[in-house]
Amino acid sequence: MENIRVRFAPSPTGYLHIGGLRTALYNYLFAKHNNGKFILRIEDTDRSRYVEGAIENLINSLEWAGIEIDEGVVIEDGEITQKGEYGPYIQSERLDIYRKYVDELIENGYAYYCFCSKERLDEVRAEQKVKGLIPKYDGFCRNIPIDEAKKRIEQGEEYVVRLRLPQNRDIKFYDIVRGNITINTEDLDDQVLLKSDGYPTYHLAVVVDDHLMNITHIVRGEEWLASAPKHAFLYEAFGWDAPEYVHLPTVLNKDRKKLSKRQGDVSVEDFRNSGYLPESLVNYLALIGWSPEGNDEILSMEELIKQFSFERVSKTGGIFDKNKLNWVNGHY
Ligand code: GLU
Repeated sequence: MENIRVRFAPSPTGYLHIGGLRTALYNYLFAKHNNGKFILRIEDTDRSRYVEGAIENLINSLEWAGIEIDEGVVIEDGEITQKGEYGPYIQSERLDIYRKYVDELIENGYAYYCFCSKERLDEVRAEQKVKGLIPKYDGFCRNIPIDEAKKRIEQGEEYVVRLRLPQNRDIKFYDIVRGNITINTEDLDDQVLLKSDGYPTYHLAVVVDDHLMNITHIVRGEEWLASAPKHAFLYEAFGWDAPEYVHLPTVLNKDRKKLSKRQGDVSVEDFRNSGYLPESLVNYLALIGWSPEGNDEILSMEELIKQFSFERVSKTGGIFDKNKLNWVNGHY
């Protein structure tokens, strides 16, 4: 494959966790198997969830695990810096870019200004819940003429920008592991794209950045599968080709529930601090949701790179059992 470019795009809302490391690892293995590039982008558009020190921790944990960052946000001489021609790679430094693309969507009728207050939205949702409906935006501001909306903005009214989804239309996309997926727009919301603080939401930023950074494959946890149709529609609205998608099975705990902090060690930091070998953790994580062809289960990073392909990624969640990690790979 030519010019493969993948990205790991964590939000700096905490330290790197086991599930995040597994996502980064599969991105890295796929990139290196294909002589491609692994890019680190920081998705920090939700300012309220920003955790001091998280970016350093994410980069240090990736490096500890042996995942080298080719492009994007890196640490050089102890300082966070950025390298590559598609930057900036920290989303909070790209606000002008998102604004430009959101304006383009509004201009072309794919997005609209919404002035609904939080109180109104809460009321609408509460009513929908009572009726047993899935809460979603009721389209109250969908048909405000642009000139009128602009006047209201000039007068200082607060607003967000929402995606104008077509009504009752099937949106289709293809996932390399899961095949063809179709979702009707009736099951989707007129997603907020630009928030009242001028920051984009994840949905707008991820599409704009993946396109502008020439990302060829989006490899991420399956919790983002439900967002993919909105993104597919955005690609269409912009007139861009969508990248390939791979949604990875969730990493579960022994009770087959999603890993959570309450269940014990889920932060890579904890493994770093308690003497685990990075090779052991990487080897163990690689086998949660992917299987090598042969019987050999002790594989170095180099061997993992050689063998890795999406064909052997499973559709169902894999279990992370810390005790097994000790037993299988040795804990020194
Ligand atoms: N910022 C998202 C996260 O924190 C990334 C989702 C994606 O890879 O598209 O997981």
